[in-house]
Amino acid sequence: MQKKDSFQALGLSMDSLSAVQAKGFTQPSPIQEKVIPLLLAGNKNIMGQAQTGTGKTAAFGLPILEKIDPRAREVQALVLVPTRELAIQVAGELASLRGRKTVKILPVYGGQSIQPQIRGLQQGVQIVVGTPGRILDHLRQKTLRIHNLAYCILDEADEMLNMGFLEDVKKILSFTNTNKSTLMFSATMPQEILSVARKYMGDFELVQMGEATLTVPQTDQTFIPVRDTEKYLTLCQLIDHTPEFYGLVFCRTKHEARKLAKRLANQGYAADSLHGNLTQAQREKVMMRFRKSAVRILVATDVASRGIDVMNLSHVINYALPQDPESYVHRIGRTGRAGKAGKAVTFVGPNEDRKLRAIEKMIRIPIRKSSALSQAVPLQAEPVKKNRFMDWRRSRTQVSARTR
Ligand code: AMP
Repeated sequence: MQKKDSFQALGLSMDSLSAVQAKGFTQPSPIQEKVIPLLLAGNKNIMGQAQTGTGKTAAFGLPILEKIDPRAREVQALVLVPTRELAIQVAGELASLRGRKTVKILPVYGGQSIQPQIRGLQQGVQIVVGTPGRILDHLRQKTLRIHNLAYCILDEADEMLNMGFLEDVKKILSFTNTNKSTLMFSATMPQEILSVARKYMGDFELVQMGEATLTVPQTDQTFIPVRDTEKYLTLCQLIDHTPEFYGLVFCRTKHEARKLAKRLANQGYAADSLHGNLTQAQREKVMMRFRKSAVRILVATDVASRGIDVMNLSHVINYALPQDPESYVHRIGRTGRAGKAGKAVTFVGPNEDRKLRAIEKMIRIPIRKSSALSQAVPLQAEPVKKNRFMDWRRSRTQVSARTR
């Protein structure tokens, strides 16, 4: 007999079940358990509180792929995402879930020449995954038509709002037919998101994963009190004492991110930075090297890091505290993904206690004070340059080219 918590119990077709099996998913995640049966049951508007890493793409992707008619050569589902990376990633995840079904999926984003996208769209695509600006360009040029959608998905709605895409999203929605299912996913639920949902979705089902899951439970969250002048050494020690360190380090500004990555790279760490001044091609190159673990320490800003989905990160380090508690949730959502354990370590300066309390209040769990370095060498020590554990460190020339 099929176990109750299996994918089969959710009502998925054999085709989807084999796709899920091929991906190596053994058990549905909590959001998948809730959303999949709802969508398979029929047309519904859903507002899901879920962050990246919870399996939300498959939660909406699997049922949508089942409902889409591959013979109809028109766009039946539009997925709006805040960043190019996310567009590529979500389109890839959907493609890997479509099984034998010949559904065409196209990522459409800015920073890339529009012509190949137009050619792609002309070939009869059923699912378009795109960033708001570029989608709007296509709609205005009439190279994309979305008047016969079965589904419209607003992914990472709060991020789209933070990035100033609200007006674009509203305009895009005005091009769509009314008789569609609208699904909105957001890690946080600020008032503006709820009011957009009420306005554009009418009746909707709210799927919440419970307050405790606002941050990923597998993530061990600690903070280290540290003065500005001690930050760099503290970071080095933390890395040196974690042989398998593979993580994201968050800074406040582009300049800070670039400088820190360069400093680390110059000392032999496999570090690089992701910031707003990179071209799309440069970003993709950094991301590819990070995914392949050639870069083990990615120093990023909040904006640049949006949509990063890299599995098995051991750490997210808040080198600088995030501007607001919501960014904290997004940042640390990048570790502890898909059931894997991860650590989120936040550096807190002498005057930053209040900000830390605000974060704890929002996530509703205390963040443990850690002397992550209690097992480590004293703070004054020089960072260890050649450590026998650090066999993944790359030579200076290999890693520092991108950080200038
Ligand atoms: P998402 O939240 O959609 O960005 O998914 C995060 C990661 O979890 C992706 O790499 C998925 O392939 C993976 N994933 C999604 N669902 C499952 C599952 N049920 N079991 C294991 N991994 C999953």
